[in-house]
Amino acid sequence: MSHKYSFFGAVERSFDKAAKFTKWDKGLLDQIRQCNAVYQMRFPIKRDDGTIEVIEAYRVQHSHHKTPCKGGIRFAAEVNQDEVMALAALMTYKCTIVDVPFGGAKGGIRIDPKKYSVFELEKITRRYTSELIRKKFIGPGTDVPAPDYGTGEREMSWILDTYTAMHPGEIDAAGCVTGKPISQGGVRGRREATGLGVFFGIREVCNMPEIMKKLDLSTGVEGKRVIVQGLGNVGYHSAKFFQDAGAKIIGLAEYEGAIWSNDGLDVDAVFQHRKKTGSILNFPGANNFEKSGDALEMECDILIPAALENVIDGKNAPNVKAKLIGEAANGPLTPEADEIFSKKGIIVVPDMYLNAGGVTVSYFEWLKNLSHVRYGRLEKRFTENMNTHILGQIEELSGKKVKGPSRDMILHGPDEVDLVYSGLEETMINATREIMDTWQENPDIPDMRTAAYVVAINKVATAYAELGIFP
Ligand code: GLU
Repeated sequence: MSHKYSFFGAVERSFDKAAKFTKWDKGLLDQIRQCNAVYQMRFPIKRDDGTIEVIEAYRVQHSHHKTPCKGGIRFAAEVNQDEVMALAALMTYKCTIVDVPFGGAKGGIRIDPKKYSVFELEKITRRYTSELIRKKFIGPGTDVPAPDYGTGEREMSWILDTYTAMHPGEIDAAGCVTGKPISQGGVRGRREATGLGVFFGIREVCNMPEIMKKLDLSTGVEGKRVIVQGLGNVGYHSAKFFQDAGAKIIGLAEYEGAIWSNDGLDVDAVFQHRKKTGSILNFPGANNFEKSGDALEMECDILIPAALENVIDGKNAPNVKAKLIGEAANGPLTPEADEIFSKKGIIVVPDMYLNAGGVTVSYFEWLKNLSHVRYGRLEKRFTENMNTHILGQIEELSGKKVKGPSRDMILHGPDEVDLVYSGLEETMINATREIMDTWQENPDIPDMRTAAYVVAINKVATAYAELGIFP
């Protein structure tokens, strides 16, 4: 990453590009664009070897037009204020596009988690949470963190435990963080939610005949040749859902290297191979790329960058041969790359809504925590009894019996995971259509990202107006 590159600056540029297509007052647009609160902290921890290290960490609340604020916490060596600000801003736009009633926030701790023991990571996470509590930067009604790059269910448990210990008797305390293990108040389906949302979003675009015609591709996901960069939580699940839907995963990339096979790679087998050997390279039957970045430039139908920001810029964008790019990561393309793709007619399905599956299901988790009841608990048996009754009547009238998987499907009452998946599917389909409609209604809008920003700006500005702040 070049020193001059500002991720927040790139988000501002995209915002300004879109703001021209809206009618809002300049002052209001400024208020929406800026970060409302930036909390930069330093605290010491004692390493296992006895040395003391000062940790640099952040929590940025980009917008309070709706509360609580919401967004993940990342652990990475590159974390800096500019990055956390950009990611917090993207959270505001992401939430508003998918109608999740939160303002955007993001947190980051500047550490490479691989270089710390589990004990040290726990100390860091708990101390970070205490600092957030001290400044009232966490709570079910104020600011609700979640997993992001380098964090997961384990870290969310530590956050929850620290928070509840310091808020005895707070009945909604479990809603102070999402992405928790199921046993700690998590919701089924949260782990794979971002990847599933990426799949639903791209599938919806692939189901639009006019768009696919422009790209010279057949409609539907089946048979599409897909490359995924990143085999973390988001990349792995995105690749898996595409594979399950009949797409061919022809390339997979990680930071240590990348592999390809025109016959398709089995995602789970590659995942296991990497776990066993410590590297994605030398997977039986596949070819190694010379450099990991080469995977982004291989011929394919759909390219899914699912790792970190800024991986496709003005330099490598001209070499990208994909027809459709789905931004599963936050900010994988620079504005220069955007310009190049827009000129070439490559469609970029933008991060700020495509990867909103995580926060959408976080919203479901938060609602579950506030309502203190598992989804499906009340209606599952009722629905099954009713379906049994209806099917019985149909069978009696027709004199025929429904058998096998169809019977199970008809009788089945919804479990929590069924409701979460269906809520997510509905959300991603609606968001895709709303953005596409906005784009089609205004042919001057150059790309899907700008259309998504237009949708987001209009919704946040309307929310401000409804609050009576800027009538
Ligand atoms: N870190 C995820 C994101 O960037 C999820 C945030 C959340 O669930 O609050 O969208």
